[in-house]
Amino acid sequence: MPMIHIVGGGMAGSECAHICATNGLKVTLYEMRGPHETPAHKTIHFAELVCSNSFKSQDPATPAGQLKAEMRALGSLLIPTAETHSVPGGSALCVDRDNFAAAITAQIEQNPNISIRRELFTPQMAEDILAQGEPLVLATGPLTSEALGQWLAEQTGQEHLYFYDAVSPTVEATTLNRDIIFAQSRYDKGEGDDYLNCPFNMEEYDAFITALVAAERVPLKDFEDPKYFEGCKPIEEIAAKGHDSLRFGNFKPVGLRDPRTDRRPWAALQLRPENREKTLYSLVACQTRMKWGPQLEVLRMVPGLENAEFVRMGVIHRNTYIESPKALHPWLEFRTRPNLFIAGQLTGVEGYVESAAMGIYVAHTLIRRSRGLEPSIPPRASAYGSLISHLSDAETDREFAPMNINWGLFPDPVPFIKNKGERKVAKISAAQSAFDDWQLQ
Ligand SMILES: Cc1cc2nc3c(=O)[nH]c(=O)nc-3n(C[C@H](O)[C@H](O)[C@H](O)COP(=O)(O)OP(=O)(O)OC[C@H]3O[C@@H](n4cnc5c(N)ncnc54)[C@H](O)[C@@H]3O)c2cc1C
Repeated sequence: MPMIHIVGGGMAGSECAHICATNGLKVTLYEMRGPHETPAHKTIHFAELVCSNSFKSQDPATPAGQLKAEMRALGSLLIPTAETHSVPGGSALCVDRDNFAAAITAQIEQNPNISIRRELFTPQMAEDILAQGEPLVLATGPLTSEALGQWLAEQTGQEHLYFYDAVSPTVEATTLNRDIIFAQSRYDKGEGDDYLNCPFNMEEYDAFITALVAAERVPLKDFEDPKYFEGCKPIEEIAAKGHDSLRFGNFKPVGLRDPRTDRRPWAALQLRPENREKTLYSLVACQTRMKWGPQLEVLRMVPGLENAEFVRMGVIHRNTYIESPKALHPWLEFRTRPNLFIAGQLTGVEGYVESAAMGIYVAHTLIRRSRGLEPSIPPRASAYGSLISHLSDAETDREFAPMNINWGLFPDPVPFIKNKGERKVAKISAAQSAFDDWQLQ
């Protein structure tokens, strides 16, 4: 049985190593913290939480609750350990971060099938392992060390690896005001309803720009280099340069006609589908560093978004991730480099829980392969299937960006249920039964 090499003792690497090892596979786990550091971690513990101490909702009737239930069923180490070291957090699963990470570290260190190497993993080590035909899992996270990041970029053909998130916000389709928002592609090119448009009149635009320029922004971290922003400037910075600059740029109304007025709007914010089912739309060219509270207030001033539910807010921060739909198989192995797997936030999921979930998923593929079995893709309706669909939908014309688990990723019930509460119940119930059926196979 070949040795499994896992790089990164974060959320994903810890889960992947634990599950492989408890299923009898021999694992080498490489972690650079100790001799080296990252700009965000403070300890040398495995599964250190770098910021908040929350694993999100425990409520089983929510997307995060369903994902955690599926992870537990697949043998998660992190979720039960988090429960053991939980602290009061309302409906969220919050942990005492030091006790939690110390407990994970102890369990990894005590596992006789895991040998730990505290060192910086290099591109040459990756080449050597792959040349020997042994599986290699990179779970080096959003702050992957520089040389390894460059090597990954080469494996993806450069254009499919990102070093920053410049993510426009995303909204749930069912919460858009269709009395105002109209479907039209510029100059009627493409499918009629590819793009949705939020039309501004002059007064609405003026009020929006004033609020946008005044909104509080997230300060840059020491390790974030503002040079990066040349290609994707935040909308508040563009607006600050001149009152009309967005109207002549990202929000230009050319080629559009508002059916309510039969005229070209003063400005227009376009929405583009995020998935094939069109349950989610992203705000086109709306990258922003506004703090989340002010961001929500300002964006709800956009005509048609008054009641929009945002499943992802706009962010611009350092984050290494792969354009998985273009570079990876749905089981997270490189299309061009057999035996090279990616897990965790590098895959294009976002958050502690989602990253850990991808570590578990890769472990199960490796276990199946060691038994001569093909990878098994989770059913679309499950929480796992919803995340994997986000990572592998290569057909939709979208800017691929990291995503948390959220309602919009789960497929709508067929036939569609209009009542929102009932629709959510139906989504979770479909996820549960699809996941249970899959597990029985
Ligand atoms: C500043 C910051 C704040 C965040 N805040 C939150 C939050 O509040 N809530 C949330 O849910 N998510 C947050 N995230 C996202 C969070 O990092 C991820 O959700 C999660 O930790 C990613 O898990 P991972 O296993 O992919 O990577 P990580 O947990 O980051 O683990 C990667 C590991 O790989 C190691 N490594 C990297 N390169 C090498 C190498 N060459 N050789 C050996 N080891 C290497 C690192 O030392 C690290 O231990 C934040 C991210 C950042 C950067």
